[in-house]
Amino acid sequence: MFYIYCPYCGEHREEEEFHPKGQAHLSRPTDPDACSDEEWGDYLYFRDNPRGLHHEIWVHAIGCRKFFNATRDTQSYEILETYRMGDAPRVTHFTDTQKS
Ligand SMILES: [Zn+2]
Repeated sequence: MFYIYCPYCGEHREEEEFHPKGQAHLSRPTDPDACSDEEWGDYLYFRDNPRGLHHEIWVHAIGCRKFFNATRDTQSYEILETYRMGDAPRVTHFTDTQKS
């Protein structure tokens, strides 16, 4: 078991209280009618699946029930940061001490 920091509750809670909800920072096309079928399909169905840093949406399902973002190392499962929806991630690449 490990703990995840909820940026809304302001405390670390057991991982079992949270659920991942997929890739973060997706932007809906501003004019879907102007999209090609391929562009719209990419937006609806295709997500990044990196080996390393990944920005994800999580929800504190058994808690405040709010959605937030997390930056996670997909290899080690380590969550490097959590931050509120609308905020930008601080961790955008590995530092020397965060080797994947
Ligand atoms: Zn919470």
